Amino acid sequence: MIACHPTSLQKTHHHYSVFESWSGFITSYNSSIQVTVNSDISLTAKFTGVNNYFTFDGDSNIPEIKNAILSLLNDCATRYLLDNNLYLHGQIPIEKSSSLSLFSWGPVSHTIKWNVAGFDNTNLFLIHELFHAYQHGVDTVNTGRNINNEIESFMAQYKYCEKYNLLECLPGTVQGWRDSFGAYLISPTSENYDIMINYVRNLQQGAYTESEFPDIATKRNIDNINSIFTCY
Ligand SMILES: [Zn+2]
Repeated sequence: MIACHPTSLQKTHHHYSVFESWSGFITSYNSSIQVTVNSDISLTAKFTGVNNYFTFDGDSNIPEIKNAILSLLNDCATRYLLDNNLYLHGQIPIEKSSSLSLFSWGPVSHTIKWNVAGFDNTNLFLIHELFHAYQHGVDTVNTGRNINNEIESFMAQYKYCEKYNLLECLPGTVQGWRDSFGAYLISPTSENYDIMINYVRNLQQGAYTESEFPDIATKRNIDNINSIFTCY
């Protein structure tokens, strides 16, 4: 038995090209497949770029996005997020946006819209959205809006900023982040989780209401963070 998936074909295509389809022995749009063979087969993986979006293969006309990606590739955790989102999980284009930063998902395509001009250090917001994209890839049950996914995405920003001494680049205060997200990392109690929720809701100035971003009991953890930031 052999497992055929894009990682086994890395040398034959550009690293951040986007998987499109298989042809030959198997016809599938899944980037990861497993086949059992008992004789020679012919199997071709087709990769493509994403028009008008960032593709990492040098044809992007959005230098801010490319520079941010290059810096995130230097970190083990954010590199993992990029590898998963742009590569293993298929096509998640990153689109320049003037007024917001968000990850949207649909049955066919997902998109990260990202404001490259509104703040200093906007790649910190790209980390946030990349983490939402990761959550969507690993969590097939609760993929809608909830405050727990927000906590994890803000925690991803916190971990990265803490490591590189960039906490002052985040909205809010350094002390505010330490007293909420930092405190939970030291002592992951339910009380400290509530403090993180309050901090994030205050930070968003009422935009993350409880009805729009509910608190889901089974998601009151940072399991996704713990599995990705093990390299820190
Ligand atoms: Zn978010």
